[in-house]
Amino acid sequence: MEELLGVHVPPPRELFEIREVHVSSALRRDPLPGIDYSFNPYIGCYHGCTFCYVPRLLQIDRNTWGASVVVKRNAATVLAKEVRRLPRGLVAISTATDPYQFVEGKYRITRHALEVLQRAQWPVSVLSRAPLMIRDIDLFTQFREIEVGMSVPTLDDRARALLEPWAPPIDSRLRCLRALADAGLTTFVGFAPAYPPTDGWSPNEIAEVFAEAGVKKMFTRALDPRWGVPEAIAKRLEGSDLAPDLLRLGDLDTIAPFVSRLAEACRARGIDFRNAFEFRMADSNQSFGSPAKALGSR
Ligand code: SF4
Repeated sequence: MEELLGVHVPPPRELFEIREVHVSSALRRDPLPGIDYSFNPYIGCYHGCTFCYVPRLLQIDRNTWGASVVVKRNAATVLAKEVRRLPRGLVAISTATDPYQFVEGKYRITRHALEVLQRAQWPVSVLSRAPLMIRDIDLFTQFREIEVGMSVPTLDDRARALLEPWAPPIDSRLRCLRALADAGLTTFVGFAPAYPPTDGWSPNEIAEVFAEAGVKKMFTRALDPRWGVPEAIAKRLEGSDLAPDLLRLGDLDTIAPFVSRLAEACRARGIDFRNAFEFRMADSNQSFGSPAKALGSR
C-alpha cells in the first residue's frame, strides 16, 4: 500500500494490463467549447468508472473498461514538436483518460507534457480524479495561464465506492483541491456526471464544502446514457441500499432541480458555476437514460 495525502492507494489489480506504444501525434483538435486541443497521455483508465463515456468514444466493450491501459511512451516528445508548428491554444489534459491514474507515478507522461507546455507557455486546463496531481504543483505554479481541477460529482463516498470503485476517495480529492488552492492556483470542480443527492447532503452543504476547499469554478453535465451505461449502473447497484437514489442518476426530473439549487448555492459563495442543465430545463420531462428505467422501476 502506498499513502498519499493520508489516504491509502490500493495496489494495481492483479489482472490489470499495461502496454506501451509509440504515437505519431499527441495533440488532438477538440470540439468541446473553450478548448483548442486535448492531450491524452494514456488510452484506457484504471479507474474504470461505471458511467464513463470513453468506451463509447473508443467503441470498445464496456465490460473491458478499466482492465487495461496503453501508455503513450513518446507522447511528450511528439508534443514538443507539435507546439513548435501548431497555433498556440488551450490544451485540456485529459478528456479521455485520467492523467494522474496510478501508472503516471511511474511513467510521468503527464508531467513531461506539462514541462513541454510550460516551456512553450501554452495555457492548460488539467482535470483528474487522483490526488497524485499535487506532485506537479511545482510545475503548475510556473504557468502563466492554468486551471487545475478535480472531478467530484458527489460528496458521499459510499456512492463513489459503488460507481467509481477504483478511483480515489472523495476526501482525498477535496484535500488535493485545498492544496492546489493554497499554492495560489485557480481550481475547479467537475461535478460530472451529477450524482443525485445521497446521505442527506443538501445543495448548501455541498457548496460550502467546495467553497472551504477554495474552489473557484464548477461545471456540471448530465449522464451520457449511450453505450450501455444505464444497464451497467443498474447491475453495479444490485443489492445496495443506495440503489433507489443512485438509480436516478440519469433522471432529469431528479437531477435538474437539484443541480439548479446547487448552482445557486455555489454562486452565493462566489463560485462560478456553469450549469448545463439550465439549457435543458425546458425539456425536463425528458429522461435521458435513467438507470431506473433500464430496470423498469419507474
Ligand atoms: S476517471 Fe474519467 S476517464 Fe477514467 S474511468 Fe473515470 S470517468 Fe472515465
